[in-house]
Amino acid sequence: MLTISEKILSKAGGRSASAGEFVEADVDFAMAHDGTSVLAVKSLREMGITRVFDPTKIIIPFDHIVPANNETAANLQREIREWIREQGIEHHYDLGKGVCHQVLPENGFALPGKLIIGADSHTCTYGAFGAFATGVGATDMAEIFATGKIWLRVPQTIRVTINGTLPRCTSAKDVTLKVVGEIGADGATYQAIEYYGEAIDALSMDGRMTLCNMAIETGAKNAIIPPDEKTHTYLAGRASGEYTLVQADSDAEYVDEYEFDVSDLEPLVARPHSVDNTCVVGSVAGTPIDQVFIGTCTNGRLEDIAAAARMVNDSMFKTRTIVIPASRKILLDAMDAGYIQRLVRAGAMIAPPGCGPCLGAHTGVIGEGEVCLSTANRNFKGRMGKGGLIYLASPETAAASAIRGEITDPREI
Ligand code: SF4
Repeated sequence: MLTISEKILSKAGGRSASAGEFVEADVDFAMAHDGTSVLAVKSLREMGITRVFDPTKIIIPFDHIVPANNETAANLQREIREWIREQGIEHHYDLGKGVCHQVLPENGFALPGKLIIGADSHTCTYGAFGAFATGVGATDMAEIFATGKIWLRVPQTIRVTINGTLPRCTSAKDVTLKVVGEIGADGATYQAIEYYGEAIDALSMDGRMTLCNMAIETGAKNAIIPPDEKTHTYLAGRASGEYTLVQADSDAEYVDEYEFDVSDLEPLVARPHSVDNTCVVGSVAGTPIDQVFIGTCTNGRLEDIAAAARMVNDSMFKTRTIVIPASRKILLDAMDAGYIQRLVRAGAMIAPPGCGPCLGAHTGVIGEGEVCLSTANRNFKGRMGKGGLIYLASPETAAASAIRGEITDPREI
């Protein structure tokens, strides 16, 4: 009678535990990026800890401000590189390798049945592989670096079933915005989401990552898609170790259930300044935009870049457009497929794999009063630059909008 989250946390905690109970769980992998590792290492030192619990289980991707944009960032990154060498951390992905939430899956760390903790809120992405994955603050990460353990309350689980077949010009991002819009920004606070249904089965692993990536935007602790053949196929030749396919019991208890049919789903947009402020793209069509950004840990994957590239021809972009592949591998694959060339010819600027302007620090920060249509996961006030406005949408809607210079329904292109 256990959900997937309950089963994974029971195993990691060494005893059967159901929703509401507390477990002290063994962490399979712990991740911190260039932004949060700085604070985690500082806390670790303040605690007087000189060695991490296991240097093979710690993963440090540099993605947030890469390459370093000023001396402060450069010095902090130098410090972390020194600490990584001193500790013998095996899995350091330095600049250009990609966004943490693409780097971990791509390198086989996002595995079914594992407990993965990241010092980043979108760590929930790895639930696409059937892992229990969630984010913590940097000081909590310091504790994990020291002990390899985390103290967690086992969340209740919401069951979300998504049926139907996605219509033309809609994709995983539209499904995600639908879910966030229906559940609301705090509708799943400290709860797990388990996804089922034919539309979920039909999603690619890229699409499943998009969906799980934004679970945190409903307040959820984590989201999980039960692992299947697609999961196996993705992991073949890249899994970093053995894994177990954990499925829920048929009589598992859910705190709430949602059911959607996406057969008549329209392309959606989240308006400023909250992710659940969703509407069909048609109701904001014609809104002038200053910038389009296609990338991030939500929609910077190969199928996203492919979707945008397929819609464009030479000199088509009326709006300045930044495209950032989520990893070096995606950049190379997109070049091999000719997608990058198409996007550049259309007028896009390609920036190095990483977070880019998503966090408002560099490579495309927007000015006061400017409007950016972004494929990212957050549109909070000031996130991409003070006084800027962010609309969130799919890569298809982003490309269509870049072509027209205003928010555009991709079905019109
Ligand atoms: Fe965070 Fe954006 Fe980077 Fe994703 S791409 S990890 S949301 S800053």
